[in-house]
Amino acid sequence: MVTGSTHGGGSLPDIVDLGEQPSLGIVPEKMHAFVVRQDRFGEPKKAWQREVIPAPAVGPKDVLVYVMATGINYNNVWAALGYPVDVIAERQKKGEPEDFHAGGSDCSGIVWAIGDQVTEVAVGDEVVVHSGWWELDDPWVLSGKDPMLALSARIWGYQTNYGSYCQFARAQSHQCQPKPKHLTWEEAACYMLCASTAYRMLMGWPPHTVEEGDVVLVWGAAGGLGSMAVQITAAHGGKPVAVVSDEDKRQFCIDLGAIGVINRNEFEHWGTMPNISSTQWGPWMKGARAFGKAIWEAVGERESPRIVFEHPGEATLPTSAFVCDTGGMIVICAGTTGYNVTMDLRYHWMMQKRFQGSHLSNDVQAAAINQLIIEKKVDPCLSDTFTFDEIGHAHQLMHENKHAYGNIACLVNATRTGQGTQ
Ligand code: NAP
Repeated sequence: MVTGSTHGGGSLPDIVDLGEQPSLGIVPEKMHAFVVRQDRFGEPKKAWQREVIPAPAVGPKDVLVYVMATGINYNNVWAALGYPVDVIAERQKKGEPEDFHAGGSDCSGIVWAIGDQVTEVAVGDEVVVHSGWWELDDPWVLSGKDPMLALSARIWGYQTNYGSYCQFARAQSHQCQPKPKHLTWEEAACYMLCASTAYRMLMGWPPHTVEEGDVVLVWGAAGGLGSMAVQITAAHGGKPVAVVSDEDKRQFCIDLGAIGVINRNEFEHWGTMPNISSTQWGPWMKGARAFGKAIWEAVGERESPRIVFEHPGEATLPTSAFVCDTGGMIVICAGTTGYNVTMDLRYHWMMQKRFQGSHLSNDVQAAAINQLIIEKKVDPCLSDTFTFDEIGHAHQLMHENKHAYGNIACLVNATRTGQGTQ
């Protein structure tokens, strides 16, 4: 139901129900949103609560997207926990007044309003939004260098407010990409953050980009990032070797293009690397070697990974660094199991390996992965769709590693699943 007042002969609604569309271009004063506040940091199912908040103002190069569906990402598990960073306090230090975090870093929707300097999109366009955000007047950005390396780069909907858990999300216009027409709203909402991150990791760090025949070891291969990495590797002629913790995930990874699947529960040497003069060193090394052998068995020959796709961090990095091929690259975008990483530097320098950090993507990389999705070379891997009111629950599942494979989404203004295809 629309409620509101009359302004100059036209009706400006105070707020509209989810799924109800005001006239194109008209933005209500308030909106429904899922929000975290500092006094409820903790378990995601409690930290994320539905509230009514003011709709955000649009800057000259901003867009407001009428969000049809949102993806759910691990970053907003961290936001709920208030760990390792209190995103609200961080923004307040930069002068932003809001005492809440209305998050969400992935969405599909309709451009509903644009700033007066926006040229990339028009009101009414159906879009997906990538989560690379940066200050547009940052000298680094203006110089034409990779904006994801700018000091002002932030994760949209995590380090910025008014993300995709809002009825009207605020983004910078350059973040918009065309919504693939063959996808439903929820399929289109679920992939961009993980897919663009995986794309930059695998294609953004030359000369270590996936080439025909390259073995790529993918941790968490049935997860959001991993399912994208397996497909991107396969789409470029590489040989993805998937790592999972559950036999039920094996077939899913093979269907995505993995040439072999390793169950990490068959090994016990995880965690930080022991001191090489301790008695723990021998068993640890035995485990790492056995894991390397499992990769060769998966590949069918003694070929080690040219690229190791890392994100668990502390638990797996010493093994990743050991099994990476001579001259290869371990590329990492997270430390889900911890940040205190160790590796055997002897192998690192003697075999001239590269340890590369990577974070989100720039516009070019987001466009490239979106094109692979449009061409149906990469599937978004939507496994589950929840309602708007289940946003907290969806994060809780992710926090407990109990969510289904691939990516998950929640409806926002879309009233049911299966809509949005053309
Ligand atoms: P996800 O869907 O939950 O997948 C993570 C996978 O990691 C799980 O499926 C799990 O697979 C595996 N895993 C869990 N514990 C593990 C352990 N101890 N050892 C090895 N593997 C383990 O999450 P995601 O969306 O892929 O994100 C993963 C991480 O990347 C998160 O921390 C997220 O915040 C971060 N991330 C960073 C960026 C960036 O740009 N910096 C972008 C996206 C995501 P199995 O249990 O089957 O092995």
